Amino acid sequence: MGKVHTVSVPAAQEAPLVRPASYRIRALKRHLVDSLRDLREAKHPERLIQKRTAQPEGFAADVVRAGCTQCQGHCCRGGGEHAYLDDRTMARVRRDNPELDAAGVISLYVDSVADQGFEGSCVFHGAQGCTLAKLLRAELCNTYYCNGLWDFLKLRPLPGVVEIVANRGGVERRAVVKAVAMEEGAGWS
Ligand code: SF4
Ligand code: SF4
Repeated sequence: MGKVHTVSVPAAQEAPLVRPASYRIRALKRHLVDSLRDLREAKHPERLIQKRTAQPEGFAADVVRAGCTQCQGHCCRGGGEHAYLDDRTMARVRRDNPELDAAGVISLYVDSVADQGFEGSCVFHGAQGCTLAKLLRAELCNTYYCNGLWDFLKLRPLPGVVEIVANRGGVERRAVVKAVAMEEGAGWS
């Protein structure tokens, strides 16, 4: 086995899995109504649509997935009932779903809320990770990498073996990810 490269990520504190309280669903709906209104009132709504940011592929994607799995979503703790959604996300979702009216768009989101989510975290933060499809997420959610993952993604060439160490506040989880073949650097799609 080649040299093992360590990637350090935070570890979310243990929290119980709970059904989402109805006040949280109401808050999510209010936030979506506000975001859709902002979009309606925009002078140039088409300009709000952000370009899709490339995502890591292959081994790099495996490492990112393993990192977030061991971390268990520390960065999602701030998602609350807004999940970083705004008029820019709504502009993209409305473009992608022209057959849906505002109520239909809101239903897409409410139906995606985690049945059992981590207490105190984003309403879409379930036991297996984010329950919101990537096409419905805020661009920030699709493009955010904590420092440990960013530093790994910038490596050239990528290491063949990575040990993920998720550590924070006395919680530690580890996982090893091996590349099937050596790759020059992170592929992006
Ligand atoms: S991006 Fe970093 S902080 Fe966020 S879930 Fe993944 S490993 Fe954790
Ligand atoms: S929408 Fe998903 S990725 Fe974004 S903060 Fe919530 S759980 Fe995390």
